[in-house]
Amino acid sequence: MARPTRFEHFRWLGDKRNQRVHDLDRATDACDIDELMASEQFAAFGPDMLPEARNRSYRPCRHCVSAPVDA
Ligand SMILES: [Zn+2]
Repeated sequence: MARPTRFEHFRWLGDKRNQRVHDLDRATDACDIDELMASEQFAAFGPDMLPEARNRSYRPCRHCVSAPVDA
């Protein structure tokens, strides 16, 4: 799927509503990134890294993030 234009320089995108973080490099249709962008309830991270998202209590999306903890 196409990367959201506003996030072309980011890889990790958080959903504030359910505290999920998506990997935009591997996002699938099931992630419904388009809906998330439309909702405006998204978050970017600084630094733009998965550990930073975890530090902020975001949990990996099971569709696009292959985290060791979920293996
Ligand atoms: Zn996802």
